[in-house]
Amino acid sequence: MSAEKHGDLRVYGLFIDGEEYEVSGTTTRKCPGDGREVATFASGSVEDTERAIAAAKRAFDDARWSKTTGAERSSVLLKLAELMKDERAGLAKIEAQEVGKPISLAFGDVDASIAMVEHSAALALTHSGEAVDNVDPDVVSMVVREPAGVIGMITPWNFPLLQLMQKLPYALAAGCTAVIKPAEITAGSTVEIARMCGKAGIPDGVVNVVTGRGSVVGETLAGSFDVDVLSFTGSTGVGASITAASAPTTKRLSMELGGKGAAVVLADADLETAADGVLFGSIFNSGECCVATTRLLVHEDIADDLLARIVRRMETVKVGHPLAEDSEIGAMIHESHLASVLGFVETAVGEGGTVVTGGHRLAEGDHAEGYFVEPTIIDGVTPESTIFQEEIFGPVLAVTRFSSNDEAVELANSVDYGLANSVWSSAVQSALSVARRIRSGSVWVNTTLENAPQMPTGGIKRSGYGREMGNAGFEEFTEPKTITVRLRPTGPVFGEGK
Ligand code: NAD
Repeated sequence: MSAEKHGDLRVYGLFIDGEEYEVSGTTTRKCPGDGREVATFASGSVEDTERAIAAAKRAFDDARWSKTTGAERSSVLLKLAELMKDERAGLAKIEAQEVGKPISLAFGDVDASIAMVEHSAALALTHSGEAVDNVDPDVVSMVVREPAGVIGMITPWNFPLLQLMQKLPYALAAGCTAVIKPAEITAGSTVEIARMCGKAGIPDGVVNVVTGRGSVVGETLAGSFDVDVLSFTGSTGVGASITAASAPTTKRLSMELGGKGAAVVLADADLETAADGVLFGSIFNSGECCVATTRLLVHEDIADDLLARIVRRMETVKVGHPLAEDSEIGAMIHESHLASVLGFVETAVGEGGTVVTGGHRLAEGDHAEGYFVEPTIIDGVTPESTIFQEEIFGPVLAVTRFSSNDEAVELANSVDYGLANSVWSSAVQSALSVARRIRSGSVWVNTTLENAPQMPTGGIKRSGYGREMGNAGFEEFTEPKTITVRLRPTGPVFGEGK
């Protein structure tokens, strides 16, 4: 780690072809919990990005990584996981200070990231192509899985390490090379990982990082003919502009975009379990989470009881400094985002909603120097309301009541997004029947935000397409090639002798 003591400034350059470069332009990141400067990141140019793409292409074309054996890639990835374990505390501190998330949660992000590297190592060893042997006794076809090439990776600020690790180790396991563009204000852990990749034995040029602006570095990746696949995680609006910028190249895209998740609580749900889950889903990572529970859809017969339980707990949640061990939620990412979240609350009230708890900035005492907001619940939200439809990305829960399961399904589906939702019920038939009718990439039943490297994640509708993690996540970074062999000649098909 470049700086270990609280308050030290970490300095990061561009990481290209195994070397770290400082450039004249930089961005300084202040911790959103206390305003202290914690890191500077290099602002990469179009030329820097092109240099990184060229390095990744050279590394792919000369097969220094793609033609290693699965066992070799697996063992290097396991070495990377060990290095991450050694640096667990440093990585967690970077995530907490740059994002503003509580350190306890940041440790969880690091552990989950390590688990993904270990899972990728297992896939490098075990995941292979298939044979098609039932077409004709004299024909055998092999579907070999080849690495997809140079992967551009663009990541957001809410889980900088975790979002990177949903992509990078899987791409490496498949034999690809990478140019990574992290969010400009939370790039520390990404450069740290690039440094560790070198130490783990990943050859120079395989992992490159260009920090800087989306409109410069990101657009260059999107428009490059030498980037074979672009794997993007971020907002739906930016995803659409990347789609347009990349169109002339016809490269393959993977889009992990916004969400507007609902918890659908049926009349027969266990209320204590549901209250716990809804609270967790709505305020985890300050609600700066694509799969957050942003809407509570609850049966009218149990609505008041459930709401009272959630409010009681929410009012005891500790909002605090990211490095304080007892903080349960931390600071919002920056001042304008805090203002946007409070703006959504104001709009909701203007549209007829009622604030049941929260709704304000916390700016006194320990909160004076940071961008903290109270966890908030707004009742009486209709499907036409702005906060029912739009992604807020803050700890704000919108409550809407329903009177039948059909109505609940209709409400859950009446948004543009389709990322992740949850259903709460004591009857497996009702839960599964509702879960199957909800249109989203994931549905949790009697749980929420429950993920593991083995489980693919991703969205439909305006939440994007493509999957990360699981076998599907690994396959995103491969191209299936069909090689067909005829074992005995068929004899002439046309002309003389047929
Ligand atoms: P964002 O879309 O503003 O930025 C994401 C990344 O794209 C950043 O690295 C940014 O610099 C880059 N970028 C910006 N403009 C670009 C352009 N024109 N061309 C190329 N790249 C560009 O998103 P954010 O504010 O960092 O993150 C929050 C969003 O991410 C939310 O909408 C959230 O739902 C989404 N998200 C989705 C998932 C998922 O898995 N579906 C996970 C986490 C976050």
